[in-house]
Amino acid sequence: MEIAVESMASGVGMRKNETLICAPLMADTVDQVVNLMHKSKATGADIVEIRLDHLKSFDPHSDIQKLIKECPLPTLFTYRPIWEGGQYDGDENTRFNALQLCMKLGADHIDIELKAAHEFNKFLNGGKPEKCKVIVSSHNYDSTPSSEELGNLVARIQAAGADIVKFATTAVDITDVARVFQITVHCQSFQVPIIAMVMGERGLMSRILCPKFGGYLTFGTLEAGKVSAPGQPTIEQLLNLYNFRLIDSDTKVFGIIGKPVSHSKSPKLYNRAFREDGFNGVFLHLLVDDLPKFFDTYSSSDFSGFSCTIPHKEVALSRCDEVDPVAKSIGAVNCVIRRPNDGKLFGCNTDYIGAISAIEDGLRENGASGPVSPLAGKLFVVIGAGGAGKALAYGAKEKGARVVIANRTYERAKELAEIIGGQALSLADLESFHPESGMILANTTSIGMQPKIEETPVPQEALKHYELVFDAVYTPKITRLLGEAQEVGAKIVTGVEMFIGQAYEQYERFTGLPAPKQLFKEIMGDH
Ligand code: NAP
Repeated sequence: MEIAVESMASGVGMRKNETLICAPLMADTVDQVVNLMHKSKATGADIVEIRLDHLKSFDPHSDIQKLIKECPLPTLFTYRPIWEGGQYDGDENTRFNALQLCMKLGADHIDIELKAAHEFNKFLNGGKPEKCKVIVSSHNYDSTPSSEELGNLVARIQAAGADIVKFATTAVDITDVARVFQITVHCQSFQVPIIAMVMGERGLMSRILCPKFGGYLTFGTLEAGKVSAPGQPTIEQLLNLYNFRLIDSDTKVFGIIGKPVSHSKSPKLYNRAFREDGFNGVFLHLLVDDLPKFFDTYSSSDFSGFSCTIPHKEVALSRCDEVDPVAKSIGAVNCVIRRPNDGKLFGCNTDYIGAISAIEDGLRENGASGPVSPLAGKLFVVIGAGGAGKALAYGAKEKGARVVIANRTYERAKELAEIIGGQALSLADLESFHPESGMILANTTSIGMQPKIEETPVPQEALKHYELVFDAVYTPKITRLLGEAQEVGAKIVTGVEMFIGQAYEQYERFTGLPAPKQLFKEIMGDH
């Protein structure tokens, strides 16, 4: 693949695959496009797609010549008509003329829609310059067809004279992407260059993992949101967040499964650490609607481990082949590992380890010492009885604390207290609850979380009975509860520390390597 080798020689950092990053350029004027071409090169793109249909006006001969001459990268010209999702609404003859001119003037690629390919071939009448590769494309903005239909589509695209096959479909479910990966691998084995993208947030992994399966190129935008098709990441994200250049056929896939999930900082944390440790893995945002279907579809050993977040922690537990006993008691799994020896899914809960070890560290900083957990014998008040509440309650109990659960729905507090052998309170009773001093308080509800940062679960007056106050909420880092606890002299432990703590544990389970603790703290802004 000529272009990839060229840009490898131009040295865009270390590179383990030949898949190109293509910047789609959509602007009103030719000068703006030229400007964007230079920006694309500086950002790390390998090739630019010039969307002629977005130009308000252009003189075919002089402007196409200028665009080709001034482009510092290989070019792909697309003149997308309205009927295929583009902006051009003129006649086909004008469009074909412009594309033919692109070919004659030295474009590296042009894109022609499958629906127009037959007419375009007739128009060219065999006059195709050797240098220019023709991409024949098909776009489906509604769904991703069956494997059989995709196979037929590729055959039709090839029959239409494609040098490079391109199709983009829409992900209704994340499992749709698996069929597209299969086709990509199949084409690669027959040395048919293919661009196969699945649009939408549920299709994101098609855009990131294409080098693993041998895709010809992926699209990366210069700016977030300025996309030519739904779901495109930025070039910056491809290169720096997902380590796109380092992905190869052996790369292990990890990810955070959730709904919603795009806000998660986990990919930032793990991918940086993978890169610095030289670990051949990639960590993705996985927007999953149906967890059992996801596990059934992505069952190969390449899909090696997953973090699970709301709302999948309980279902994950039921779909693992084996579950750690503590996770079973908590009733929630937030980390799933595919065992390399037999491919079975093992689930565990690192939330409780993260929170409890952060609280223990806090108590030690406050003067606790000795080999026994500083939680042993302490009165530990947990606010909340959901997933995080259960994790904290079990964790504290395991360390020998006496546990009290306070929850808005008293019945849930009672239920949890009975299971772990603790005391239940209503939230209202918490204010006057101070049987002793030096207690620990852990908020595991979302009270105080952005945007409702003015809320707090307990009046400040009640906080003076606590030695340490922990908040699972981590946006903002210092919640009103933690700010007020600090004011009355309590030691505080933040939700960011819990998040980092659970991530240490997951990283070690995913990679078998010690977690780069300092790096995680730096990335989370928690030195
Ligand atoms: P969950 O299972 O849905 O449980 C939510 C709990 O909060 C329930 O006990 C619920 O009480 C209570 N609650 C919710 N809104 C309330 C309100 N307005 N007033 C009083 N009580 C309220 O959720 P989860 O998974 O445990 O997560 C809870 C919080 O922990 C979230 O903010 C999450 O971001 C945070 N978290 C942080 C980390 C970390 O690494 N820092 C990890 C996991 C979770 P009812 O029983 O009455 O509904």
